Amino acid sequence: MAIADNLQQVTSQLKGTSARLVVVTKTHPVERLQEAYAAGARIFGENRVQEMAAKQPELPADVEWHLIGHLQTNKVKYIAPFVHTIQSIDSLKLLLEIERQAARHNRVIAGLLQFHIAEEETKTGLTLPEAEEILRSEEYRALRHVRLTGVMGVATFTDDEDQLRREFRTLRGYFDKLKALYFADNDTFREVSMGMSADFPLALREGSTLVRVGSAIFGARG
Ligand SMILES: *Cc1c(COP(=O)(O)O)cnc(C)c1O
Repeated sequence: MAIADNLQQVTSQLKGTSARLVVVTKTHPVERLQEAYAAGARIFGENRVQEMAAKQPELPADVEWHLIGHLQTNKVKYIAPFVHTIQSIDSLKLLLEIERQAARHNRVIAGLLQFHIAEEETKTGLTLPEAEEILRSEEYRALRHVRLTGVMGVATFTDDEDQLRREFRTLRGYFDKLKALYFADNDTFREVSMGMSADFPLALREGSTLVRVGSAIFGARG
């Protein structure tokens, strides 16, 4: 099916929720992103810095770029001029570098704390105590050019629905706890980024506000 039809099909499943769609464009050439843009997509997710930086000038300026893959501190500078949200924040060190680079461009960059929710050891992300340690630190409180807007997680690659539901609930629980303890009067802390092509309807039922969908829109990656 054409990108526009697939996009329409995914978007229709968000109706009745307040969730938004992050169209995951990694590995796909710019022409396919332009096709998705023409069909109405405005939030694009990439997981590699170089790829995102190469594509960004080719798309209209109203695209919201989200970095969804692991980010090394020495690469923040390449996306700091334009990135809207870094969904993969997993250390205080990274937050401090985002602050530094965003300040150079007089910008505020949004960020999500990425949590480890999957069973697999390989998937990266914070534990709840690690996140709380960051949020309680003096350095975090002094940040002016990075604003945490929520949490993100990547579930286990499985079709076991009970397990997926458990993992999504865990992330939602982390969000609720952090919201109550650290962001109670902060309306901008509101995002729970979870759900991909195979499991986003389930993630929506568990309270996702940002679904990250690639292959259901563009087909399998080559
Ligand atoms: C690739 C990727 C996605 C999208 O995966 P699909 O299965 O193609 O929808 C979502 N989140 C992250 C972090 C990814 O790396």
